Amino acid sequence: MRAAPRLTSTEQRPVTTLRGVGPALAGRLAHLGVTQVQDLLFILPRAYEDRTRTVPIGSLLPGQRAVIEGEIQLTEVTFRRRRQLLSRLADGSGHVILRFFHFSAAQQHNLARGARLRCFGEVRRGPLGLEIVHPEYQHVAAGGAPLEETLTPIYPTTEGVAQGRLRALIGQALEELHRAGVREWLPAPLLESLHLPTLSRSLEYVHHPPRDARLEVLAAGRHPAQRRLAFEELLAHTLALKLAKRELQSAPAAPLADPAGLEARFVAALPFTLTGAQQRVRREIGADLARAQPMLRLVQGDVGSGKTAVAAAAAARAVGSGLQAVLMAPTELLAEQHWRSFDAWFRPLGLPVAHLSGSKPARARSSALETIASGEVQLIVGTHALFQQGIEFARLALVIVDEQHRFGVRQRLALREKGDRGGLTPHQLIMTATPIPRTLAMTACADLDVSTIDELPPGRTPVKTVAVVEERRAEVVERIAAACREGRQVYWVCPLIEESDELRYQAAEETASQLAEALPDVRLGLVHGRMPAAKKEQAMAAFEAGRIQLLVATTVIEVGVDVPNATLMVIENAERMGLAQLHQLRGRVGRGALESSCVLLYRQPLSQIARERLRAIRETSDGFVIAQRDLELRGPGELLGTRQTGLAQLRVADLARDADLLPRVQQAADLILREHADRIAPLTARWIGEGERYGRVG
Ligand code: ADP
Ligand code: MG
Repeated sequence: MRAAPRLTSTEQRPVTTLRGVGPALAGRLAHLGVTQVQDLLFILPRAYEDRTRTVPIGSLLPGQRAVIEGEIQLTEVTFRRRRQLLSRLADGSGHVILRFFHFSAAQQHNLARGARLRCFGEVRRGPLGLEIVHPEYQHVAAGGAPLEETLTPIYPTTEGVAQGRLRALIGQALEELHRAGVREWLPAPLLESLHLPTLSRSLEYVHHPPRDARLEVLAAGRHPAQRRLAFEELLAHTLALKLAKRELQSAPAAPLADPAGLEARFVAALPFTLTGAQQRVRREIGADLARAQPMLRLVQGDVGSGKTAVAAAAAARAVGSGLQAVLMAPTELLAEQHWRSFDAWFRPLGLPVAHLSGSKPARARSSALETIASGEVQLIVGTHALFQQGIEFARLALVIVDEQHRFGVRQRLALREKGDRGGLTPHQLIMTATPIPRTLAMTACADLDVSTIDELPPGRTPVKTVAVVEERRAEVVERIAAACREGRQVYWVCPLIEESDELRYQAAEETASQLAEALPDVRLGLVHGRMPAAKKEQAMAAFEAGRIQLLVATTVIEVGVDVPNATLMVIENAERMGLAQLHQLRGRVGRGALESSCVLLYRQPLSQIARERLRAIRETSDGFVIAQRDLELRGPGELLGTRQTGLAQLRVADLARDADLLPRVQQAADLILREHADRIAPLTARWIGEGERYGRVG
């Protein structure tokens, strides 16, 4: 890579060169990631105020923030509950009360009858009509001082740096911007083809929009200046992720040739034939694993598409190459289930599978750790958490991570350290059941190659989904009784209570006891997040074995749980859940050949978005279609969970709103990687804070 081009003075100059920035303020600014003058330009307003015009007092509305001008008619100190100063300000069109709880004698004196004031503040309804509490104000001569020329930016409030201070500093940085310019890293032809303004013009506009700027467009983040910044931000993140990937792949890995032919034997011994999609993804993985650089591959596939078998085939390849593979699940429950699948598949081939569980006695655990460290055991299943605690591998060649959305880029980078003792980096296979729309995946998962299992194993009957209003709960309970009489099993998912774990589990217990009362002949079990792992596992095992017919659960069963005899899923308060989550939950049924159904119990009144979600989930069972709808309805925060995306905090861009930019961002990233590699470091430094970097960059 060529040396980074020389930066302009604005970009390099420390903030301490600005007027009024001493060591104390510089320290507080550093906390916000601001060390250079340029950094100030990228603190972007979250809202604007219009202080470019005065508003007639008579036209004020509650909630409005406005500049008004008028004459004091009356000022007095009153004692309604607490001492306060009230002034009546009038302008001929009407009057408004200014209310001060804190005031000095001088202030009281200055607000004497006849004084002309200009005020700014939020209007609210008060006991004496409209009022403004603690307005900003200044005395003005008739005819008036000039108003602001541009809209006033409101910056995200930040500890230790007051709004006014920040605004003044950013103002200074903008002056510098006019003098020295700010480096434009996007190639000119690209900008032209995108029809987006230059960086300096965009920054000027978003910090100081002209008085006729349309606030609705700005508030929606749809102004070309904002789009331009969003574009550059998404580009910076994409580049950083791609570089992190490149960096990771620059370390050597063991090529897994599988001379023992174990993978083929494993696949032949499976109790089913892999689907076409599974075969294709297996080949994609196989090609990666044969290389001497670490694989970084995400396998996405809808619930029930059979990701585990594909991952196990990859593990077989590692073992057939004389090395170790580990599978990590996000919860004990899933780890247990994966271990059982692996054990069932590998034991007949003479291969033991170690299960690392938090609920195992210390002695069993330490002997398992020994067999792993000695290389005696080649296949290991456990939770993410266990994996992070001092486990040593003899020859780890493959790490499989289930449900990557709880597993971020940083953890992936940390996995490097877990490689085998010869300094080789393990291959990484990440499985997610949250389908990610393609354009989004290209950006949010730019540090991974993506394989998609887009076909379900044959013989699955689609799940019938109905929405039922809470008032008809009794009918739903009757349906449960009927299913149990037929020997089927049922899930009941309890309402989502965000406030606390405590409430969540109380609600689950209460529902369980009500259902137990209503269904005396049904064997009922309960699982929730607060139970000790061992108890959860017991309950799950009992459900799998059919000893429990009705499993009442919190959303802990969301991912992965696999009981083909369960054919009815009831989701309470479904209107409160996101589409992706509903889809995950519904995926727990319809896992065998039996006809299954899903009942979405909801409470009135339904919000517009809840209505749309319930409709979408009833209309389709295709996870990719649902993901796309979810993206449109709620944005990728819901879809991927903020931590699910590979992306660190975004400042301007919004993955849902700006999704249409993503294909062009990809193209631009490729162009820059190919032809302007020297711009990557300054671009990423500009947008991504020191603490959030994905890896070493540039
Ligand atoms: P997911 O992709 O949701 O993790 P799983 O790997 O748990 O799906 O697979 C769901 C179920 O389908 C499991 O019982 C698994 O054994 C079974 N299965 C996987 N692949 C096939 C296949 N090709 N044919 C039939 N059943 C399969
Ligand atoms: Mg799974």
